[in-house]
Amino acid sequence: MRSGIGPREELHKSGIECCVDSPGVGQNLEDHVIAFIPYEVSKPGLTTDHLSWHGAAAAKNLADYKRDRSGFLGAMPFGSFAYARLDERLGDSSLWQEARSIASPSRDPMGLSQQQPNIETFHTECAPAGFEPGSGDASIFCTVVELFGPRSAGTVRLASADPNDNPVVDHNYFADPLDLEVLAEAAHFMNEIVMKGAGTATVMKGSFPSDGKHHAFKSREEWKPWLRDHCQTCYHPTGTCKMGKDDDRMAVLDDKCTVRGVQRLRVADTSVMPKIPNGHTQMPAYGVAERCADFMKEGFTTIA
Ligand SMILES: Cc1cc2nc3c(=O)[nH]c(=O)nc-3n(C[C@H](O)[C@H](O)[C@H](O)COP(=O)(O)OP(=O)(O)OC[C@H]3O[C@@H](n4cnc5c(N)ncnc54)[C@H](O)[C@@H]3O)c2cc1C
Repeated sequence: MRSGIGPREELHKSGIECCVDSPGVGQNLEDHVIAFIPYEVSKPGLTTDHLSWHGAAAAKNLADYKRDRSGFLGAMPFGSFAYARLDERLGDSSLWQEARSIASPSRDPMGLSQQQPNIETFHTECAPAGFEPGSGDASIFCTVVELFGPRSAGTVRLASADPNDNPVVDHNYFADPLDLEVLAEAAHFMNEIVMKGAGTATVMKGSFPSDGKHHAFKSREEWKPWLRDHCQTCYHPTGTCKMGKDDDRMAVLDDKCTVRGVQRLRVADTSVMPKIPNGHTQMPAYGVAERCADFMKEGFTTIA
């Protein structure tokens, strides 16, 4: 946008001369919204807090990492991952029952096929951004729920022409109520597993911090306000410079990653994706880069 490629009016607002009026730049921001749901266990040592932040552990971890990238901070901070479809659990949801896929009638309301999960879930002993354990030696973990196939999309805009100013990012999570409906069902589902799964009764204390009540939530509806307060990004932004067909005015790029209206300029990152993948974005980013490199080697150039 600062180079003059973007929505004309948006650029003019920041005093930037518009070289290519491309209304799709900064639109169609998709991301995976997640929530860390914290719990405390009653069995010390069952989680890895004693290795991560109890006592002198945090200082030791930092020293290990700085010395040779080893220790807790040098390891993968996540435990088991699982995927699920929620059709049955959403059977009583009128929002789900009445919604139709925008993509195709054979798909579910999120645009997913029956082989594609609605949610991912995993556990971690790392805390979410901004979360202070602050309770001495409590043994805690978080169950994370992540929404696939979101229907909401946001924007990235310029705050000004000054490159030192951060852009204005609006994820617009839950603009479509179905996104919150599905994520709330995911949280409800995982809470049932954590609190009532086989063998958990003997090790689970409940919500963390202990004045929290989420371990006792009994319905999707109870989870919604909690999720609105606690959700965050999974750091998977995509789509703000999407590729698309010639008749799609919002398609910034053609199918060879070339910027429409500009010669010899390509984009090769997750912003080119018209739709966010149903999985994490690092591998697809490599895929985009490999394909774009192929296009360049083939000598493709498209001048719109
Ligand atoms: C904390 C975190 C955890 C993640 N975990 C995972 C995970 O476990 N699995 C997974 O699949 N994905 C994960 N992701 C997502 C993944 O890292 C991204 O989807 C991927 O890196 C996106 O690649 P990209 O090329 O689009 O952008 P980036 O990797 O962000 O690359 C953009 C590059 O452009 C450079 N740049 C920016 N501005 C300029 C400029 N003006 N001039 C020149 N260069 C510039 C930046 O320095 C950067 O190198 C995670 C992301 C984060 C932030």
